Amino acid sequence: MANFHHVVIIGAGPAGTVCGYLLQKHGVDCVIVDHATFPREKICGGGLTPKAYGLLQELMPDLRYEYQSVRRFKFMLEGKTISEVDLDNELRMVVRKDFDNELLQQYLSIGGKLVKGSFSRFEEQPDGKILVSLKSGEPLLCDFLVGADGANSQVRRQITGSRSYNTLWMEQYVEKGANEFIFELSKQYKKGYFFSFPSVGKDIVGMGGYYSSPKEIRAQLSKNHIRGNILAVDAPLRGSYIPLETLDSGKKQVILIGDAGGFANKLSYEGLYYAIATGRNAWKAIVEGTDFSITNREIFRNKRKEAWVTDLFYSRFGLWLVRIGAHSPKLIKKAFEKCY
Ligand SMILES: Cc1cc2nc3c(=O)[nH]c(=O)nc-3n(C[C@H](O)[C@H](O)[C@H](O)COP(=O)(O)OP(=O)(O)OC[C@H]3O[C@@H](n4cnc5c(N)ncnc54)[C@H](O)[C@@H]3O)c2cc1C
Repeated sequence: MANFHHVVIIGAGPAGTVCGYLLQKHGVDCVIVDHATFPREKICGGGLTPKAYGLLQELMPDLRYEYQSVRRFKFMLEGKTISEVDLDNELRMVVRKDFDNELLQQYLSIGGKLVKGSFSRFEEQPDGKILVSLKSGEPLLCDFLVGADGANSQVRRQITGSRSYNTLWMEQYVEKGANEFIFELSKQYKKGYFFSFPSVGKDIVGMGGYYSSPKEIRAQLSKNHIRGNILAVDAPLRGSYIPLETLDSGKKQVILIGDAGGFANKLSYEGLYYAIATGRNAWKAIVEGTDFSITNREIFRNKRKEAWVTDLFYSRFGLWLVRIGAHSPKLIKKAFEKCY
């Protein structure tokens, strides 16, 4: 017989743990299923913006995590430094392996349940319940299924019938050395950017955008000598997708959040804030008995705005405007702080 929980969440990344934590804290019976053993690796720059750590502080006031604080920002175009600014609010650079584990521990510390397993598929039952099957064959029955299973979401795949990858990103750890984060744009890049982030114990460099293969990114990266020949550093170059096609499941009882729902920012590719915010909005929808399309309305609306801002930004005209505006550190600072 299948174990019953009011809510089954697939994925213990930031989206899933924030949603699970809020449900558990408010006495709602839920379980998180994840196929990884924590602490687990996650390919990510680990940059938490003020709006991301601000929201997290509000939702999980007891959460503590290690981070490197960074304020200095260097903006580069075609390999040349255009502007260097100091931001008013720090960015917090975390190591995802440790950060995600701290989030999970918060959920577990208030009695949250975790099942190790891999989601296989779900079936809507005649009585309105959802039957979730794990690859092990174990069945789980629930009123709500939350897909928080990241960029390769199987829950999303079952709904759409196809994968949705969009943008490919690659990064590698390098020796510690920088105290600023760098963004570089180039008209050769495919709607993306090169980045270099200082972090805890090591730095991270990488790039991404609308690339179809790691080979294309490797070729582009090998031309990039912003911090010396970064590919010479003895660390693997690892890749991952960031899906950007935002999807509402269209079913009240199946909710997609974080990367599974394609919620990362379409221009900056920031994903952590949206994982946290959609996790909160899923919790709200479940406890209030409201549709996720309502509790998450503002984010859905912003996604439509982001799509056309991104098209404009990466057009020839947009990049020309950036080139002109980027010489003003004040303007760069304002634009950056608006994005983050
Ligand atoms: C190179 C790169 C750099 C990035 N840099 C930043 C950055 O600096 N700042 C930022 O804000 N965002 C960044 N992002 C985006 C950010 O990493 C994601 O948006 C964020 O991790 C999404 O969180 P999530 O909880 O939705 O998914 P994830 O963190 O991916 O968690 C999904 C969880 O689901 C589990 N899972 C998956 N499939 C199954 C299954 N079938 N069954 C059971 N469990 C399953 C996984 O094990 C995982 O634990 C970056 C992304 C990339 C690729």
